[in-house]
Amino acid sequence: MSVHLMNTYTRQPVTFVRGEGVWLWDDKGEKYLDALAGVAVNGLGHAHPKLVKAISEQAAKLIHVSNIYQIAEQSALADKLCEISGMDKVFFCNSGCEANEASIKLARLYGHNKGIENPEIIVMDKSFHGRTMATLSATGNRKVQAGFEPLVSGFIRVPYDDIESVRQIAARNANVVAVLVEPVQGEGGINIPKHASGYLEALRQICNEHDWLLMLDEVQTGIGRTGTWFGFQHTNIKPDVMSLAKGLGSGVPIGACVASGVAADVFTYGKHGSTFGGNPLATAAGLATLNIIEEEGLRENAEKIGNYIRESFEAEFKDQKGVVAIRNAGLMIGIELNKPCGELVKLALAQKLLINVTAESVVRLLPPLVMNEAEAQLLVKQLSALIKTFLK
Ligand SMILES: *Cc1c(COP(=O)(O)O)cnc(C)c1O
Repeated sequence: MSVHLMNTYTRQPVTFVRGEGVWLWDDKGEKYLDALAGVAVNGLGHAHPKLVKAISEQAAKLIHVSNIYQIAEQSALADKLCEISGMDKVFFCNSGCEANEASIKLARLYGHNKGIENPEIIVMDKSFHGRTMATLSATGNRKVQAGFEPLVSGFIRVPYDDIESVRQIAARNANVVAVLVEPVQGEGGINIPKHASGYLEALRQICNEHDWLLMLDEVQTGIGRTGTWFGFQHTNIKPDVMSLAKGLGSGVPIGACVASGVAADVFTYGKHGSTFGGNPLATAAGLATLNIIEEEGLRENAEKIGNYIRESFEAEFKDQKGVVAIRNAGLMIGIELNKPCGELVKLALAQKLLINVTAESVVRLLPPLVMNEAEAQLLVKQLSALIKTFLK
């Protein structure tokens, strides 16, 4: 590896050169089962023929023009995102943190428009929203913030899945303009609210009562990952603002801030922008991704295979000491152990299996949405043997 790369990642000693579906090959020709999908990015698996075709054709026609011109692919993707979300307007950017930056700016502007000079946003413990200054300040993980003080102000932190503390803030703080929350916390350890729909619905209720914006960070939960297009679609509510990225472009960088109702027209001319955001290549990739998910029934598959994997692990670990919990929302899967288990990443890699560990003791799986039952079986068999040995 080059000495000219900054030291921001612990990198495993492997170089992938090719992929197909849930499989990757390294530069020595070894084959790996990918249960991470580039951290929830490669929902279609690797080298999906229809995606490759759409991207190649677009690249041959037009990769980039400025947002000072009309971009047909961008309009088409905005229409599609609004059709499947029931929301109204989209701003395109290039990543998850940028999508959240847009949400945060939108919420502050919404506050200023109401005459609130120091708008504040409620955020959650154990949340993750990105690595830019505003989004790391919103993130509920000291490790992400340490060394970057002074943090951006204007965030109030409460425990996740705790409606009472949000109510308490509502009762005494007139500066709050929005709540920013993940429907399921990804980096935080696949944390699913106890009454999944009840939590978001209660937040929606409080936001309605106080004219706050309900802003969902769906960067990880969106684009079919949990079995529906978006995490909120497991409930009856709709957010005012939603941020997307990861799975949206299948690896071509793209992010989106989607807004509805009063939030849809907060940004006006000159209030926000991006050079690359929504360019023809990225939005063609986004459009192809959504169409393929629809055509191939990948949301249904994510739900079916996700539940199959959870149930299989439950059976494997029935009397296993050391396994604290097994959780899933579609193909967001977490296996919580009773001790730190970062080592498992290396042990799995040695067995040609790609997994992730987050929140120190949670094995996190985010397989491609195209994973079939036979591949899921392989994953469960290999990983449960590994975890059993690790816990011995
Ligand atoms: C990954 C992630 C982000 C940050 O996305 P980047 O593209 O890395 O900036 C933000 N929020 C959530 C929930 C994420 O999972």
